[in-house]
Amino acid sequence: MIRITGVRLEITESEDDLIEKVRRKYNLKNVSNFTITKKSVDARKKNDIHYVYAVDLCTANEDALAGKYKEIQKAEHKTYVFPEGVKPDKPIVIAGMGPAGLLCALTLVQNGYKVIVLERGKRVDERKKDVDAFWETGVLNPSSNVQFGEGGAGTFSDGKLTTGIKDFRIRKVLEEFHAHGAPEEILYYSKPHIGTDNLYHMVASIREDIIRLGGDVRFS
Ligand SMILES: Cc1cc2nc3c(=O)[nH]c(=O)nc-3n(C[C@H](O)[C@H](O)[C@H](O)COP(=O)(O)OP(=O)(O)OC[C@H]3O[C@@H](n4cnc5c(N)ncnc54)[C@H](O)[C@@H]3O)c2cc1C
Repeated sequence: MIRITGVRLEITESEDDLIEKVRRKYNLKNVSNFTITKKSVDARKKNDIHYVYAVDLCTANEDALAGKYKEIQKAEHKTYVFPEGVKPDKPIVIAGMGPAGLLCALTLVQNGYKVIVLERGKRVDERKKDVDAFWETGVLNPSSNVQFGEGGAGTFSDGKLTTGIKDFRIRKVLEEFHAHGAPEEILYYSKPHIGTDNLYHMVASIREDIIRLGGDVRFS
């Protein structure tokens, strides 16, 4: 598999044309496993705004291509592997259902661990009512507000994902977010963005999965 970076697509062109564009530019006979791994917008020049992609694909003569073009490298795929370990008899207690707690609990139950998740605030749907009431009346519920409650501090943001995006383990997080309702483009967009409405559903869906896999989720 090779990775080709810096593939340009005009804003008038369709993403469906990308594979054909790449095939023609490098005269590739057979292409398989074509995947977009990164997408960004180059808007540095007002009269030349376009998309820039990185794509992975399999083709013949990959070594020769990688030697000939500086924008082509052999693609390395590092995937997150859960570490082997002895499972304790007692459940692991996780305090808080922000992004850290949710992903921690989900990953543990997926790997056969028992967990108890404690959240000081309320479920995301009930929490939303408390947040709306705060905006209307100014009355603060100290355990259920913009900071506290299921989903954590960023649940009422527009869901731009800005943390640790260069760490290869972030792929696991993005795949879980996508599997639980975030748009597919977060898997490759350089500025991934979930969207407020999707955030609520995604958080609830992760909680349901934790429970389905045997996790014990408790709200105060
Ligand atoms: C308004 C706002 C907008 C944001 N927007 C973005 C954004 O667009 N993009 C971005 O990348 N980041 C954003 N952030 C930052 C992002 O929300 C945090 O980086 C992220 O939430 C941290 O995750 P966490 O799980 O470590 O902690 P938190 O999200 O803070 O989660 C902690 C959880 O623990 C619970 N808790 C606290 N004390 C206890 C206790 N004693 N017992 C049980 N549970 C407890 C809380 O209720 C909460 O659910 C935003 C933050 C805020 C406040």
